[in-house]
Amino acid sequence: MTPEPTKQWKSLLGIAAITATLFGMETATSMVVPDDLVFDVNSRVEGVFPETWIHGSKSAMDNTDPAVQVHRYNAHTYILRENKAINYEGAFMYLFFGNQKALLIDQGSTSSPALFPLRDVVDGIITAWEKAHQRTNTQLIVANSHLHGDHYAAWNQFVDRPDTLMVGLTHEEVMAYWGFDDYPEQRVTYDLGGRQFIVTGTPGHQSSEIALYDTWTDLLYTGDMLYRGRLYLEDWQAWKASIKRLRDMADDYPVAHLVNNHIEMTATPTIDYPIGTTWQPDEPPMQMTLDMLNTAVSASTEIERPGIYKYDHFLIYNEVPWAYTTDP
Ligand SMILES: [Zn+2]
Repeated sequence: MTPEPTKQWKSLLGIAAITATLFGMETATSMVVPDDLVFDVNSRVEGVFPETWIHGSKSAMDNTDPAVQVHRYNAHTYILRENKAINYEGAFMYLFFGNQKALLIDQGSTSSPALFPLRDVVDGIITAWEKAHQRTNTQLIVANSHLHGDHYAAWNQFVDRPDTLMVGLTHEEVMAYWGFDDYPEQRVTYDLGGRQFIVTGTPGHQSSEIALYDTWTDLLYTGDMLYRGRLYLEDWQAWKASIKRLRDMADDYPVAHLVNNHIEMTATPTIDYPIGTTWQPDEPPMQMTLDMLNTAVSASTEIERPGIYKYDHFLIYNEVPWAYTTDP
């Protein structure tokens, strides 16, 4: 059924189309088709990052930021950040929409719905999105970049949610859901209701990690295997191969930005915030560039021994215990 757009709805679409044109976006076509959203694999639908993210406060007790920052990157892409005053990890989470489906990647570092009401926040985004796009009964897929506790702490908040598919927190469940039979080398095409992602294996930080490339926004999501911070590598050879796999992906598909899970660097090259920091007033952007990926590729060929290696935009903690630190 194709609902007849109201007059007001049509004029809103007109404004949206004009705005989209102003910002060089190519969403006009998708926004005037109310019965099915169109996610053209050949287009790059841009989005915006915030000037700064919420980044904790000097006194965590006096923090007045929301528990979860919700940032609308574009009409069908949301980036969420956990408040550092609740957990110093300040983890980023992603909510991608397709037709009849939404994909939530990661559920933060805090279980308590009182402290960290992630389920309520996600429900609110989905309800508003459904209203804006005239649809109902969106299925939520609850998935993870990798299987570390700072990325699935609020997973339990979703287990009794209607219209929800829980991918699971074992390696086997992750492989089965994405359809890997040759992890990590394989590239899997994943269809989120008409929105195509390319998914590949990126172990090295953790042995079930995945990376996703979104053909609609050209975002390459690298999780915890490459971000502006301390890259803790449990398996150097696996990470080296994963970095090459990401570089190959960027050779085969156009990349707008690399996006990920944490910010631990300051805006000063090579300088990170100490582990456990709950106030980061001088954060660089979260998104990264292909130049930074190239630096990681170089690092992967230069480094031969366990240890801590500093680069401008990330530090490599190669096969050293998590407690090791360069903090003074
Ligand atoms: Zn993490």
